[in-house]
Amino acid sequence: MNKTVLVLGGGWGGLAVAYRLRGQLGAEHRVVVIEKNDKFSLGPVNLWVMTGDRKYPDDVERPLSALVRKDIEWLQAEVTGIDPVNKTVQTTAGTLNGDYIVIALGSESYPEGVPGFVGNAYNLFDAAGAARLHDALQQFKGGKIVIFVSNTPFRCPPAPYEAALLIESMMRRRGMGDLTEIHLYTPESQPMPVAGPEIGAMLRQMVEGRGIKYHPNEKVMRIDGSSKKIIFEGDKESNYDLLIGVPPHRAPRAVVGAGLTDSSGYIPTHPQNLRVLANVEELETRLPGVYVVGDSASITLFNLKPLPKAGVFAEEQAATVASNIASDIRGEEQRAVFDGKGVCYIEAGDGMAAEGSGNFYAYPNPRISINPPSPEGHKAKEEFEKLLTTWFA
Ligand SMILES: Cc1cc2nc3c(=O)[nH]c(=O)nc-3n(C[C@H](O)[C@H](O)[C@H](O)COP(=O)(O)OP(=O)(O)OC[C@H]3O[C@@H](n4cnc5c(N)ncnc54)[C@H](O)[C@@H]3O)c2cc1C
Repeated sequence: MNKTVLVLGGGWGGLAVAYRLRGQLGAEHRVVVIEKNDKFSLGPVNLWVMTGDRKYPDDVERPLSALVRKDIEWLQAEVTGIDPVNKTVQTTAGTLNGDYIVIALGSESYPEGVPGFVGNAYNLFDAAGAARLHDALQQFKGGKIVIFVSNTPFRCPPAPYEAALLIESMMRRRGMGDLTEIHLYTPESQPMPVAGPEIGAMLRQMVEGRGIKYHPNEKVMRIDGSSKKIIFEGDKESNYDLLIGVPPHRAPRAVVGAGLTDSSGYIPTHPQNLRVLANVEELETRLPGVYVVGDSASITLFNLKPLPKAGVFAEEQAATVASNIASDIRGEEQRAVFDGKGVCYIEAGDGMAAEGSGNFYAYPNPRISINPPSPEGHKAKEEFEKLLTTWFA
């Protein structure tokens, strides 16, 4: 019997699922990606757009129309409803039925969630926003740059720290280091709390060692553009000359509307087979044939913190899910498991990045190590961009 796999979302995780599946399934089976945008973009490249090492949009975006060359169907539509029991998906372009559903709708940012964000803060998490930020940094004549994180969890936990380090390097190289103050405010108690206190202390040392002022446990309440002030919980405030925000994140409406989310705001997901969980403690799954990959998933680690939202995990999860769907279609046992291991590269400026790697599924805490920044780390991070050629050549 010919089967149809509906992949909801054509971002990093969704496209990884679609390409992997296409490589493992015969042409008689359909792989359909439902994505509202007509372009794919790769988050990490935003940082290099900010520094001016990459140009927006040419170095960042690729047209999803290219998927057809790989025998992947792309429906440009918004998912408006998911019936995971009957494997039916409502979209703005009609209703589709599938044999398998892979939810890869990510985590959406909504800057309007912080009053005053829109119009006053540069949004690093938006490629066009990163390009505008680049122009603003080029024109910056010195003063106070404030970077803030709106809420947790957010995509790519090291990103604000990378932004701070890259900006410090840019300003120093332009001979403006002494004229520039950089402050980083976050509601987190330390950098990357999931990785434990030692890694947090190392990352904190990385930023503070470069003169960046770090302010943990600060929750932004609003921004007053007329007085150029950012106001935090408890009526604390800071002035700024240039403001950069990590916007608030939440699960997309279609994910919440499907009734699949829990108190984490995202979909409780089996850590190894990426199926929706009915009971988190017992790891009891439900909804056979329905999988979640990437940022829409909530995977609780042994230390009770969530697995970070990162493309490297979305891609590995996609490989697991694609392999298991292909096995199921062939009538074989689903054996692939996602092991919680991953590598991230923390841009440190001056052409260097620190490589962090480890096992997030280790007990009782993730076992992570970080190497000092090196040119090799930076080159390894640039390897992410290969996806743009592999998928869209
Ligand atoms: C600045 C920045 C730097 C980053 N750096 C790194 C890094 O160095 N390493 C790393 O591993 N990760 C990094 N990330 C994180 C990474 O980009 C995400 O974790 C990854 O994209 C998650 O993949 P995903 O498929 O779950 O979600 P996404 O890639 O966000 O894809 C979700 C897709 O679903 C679509 N969608 C949502 N709702 C609907 C709907 N209702 N109907 C149709 N389509 C819909 C969206 O348009 C989107 O295309 C970074 C992110 C940013 C923003």
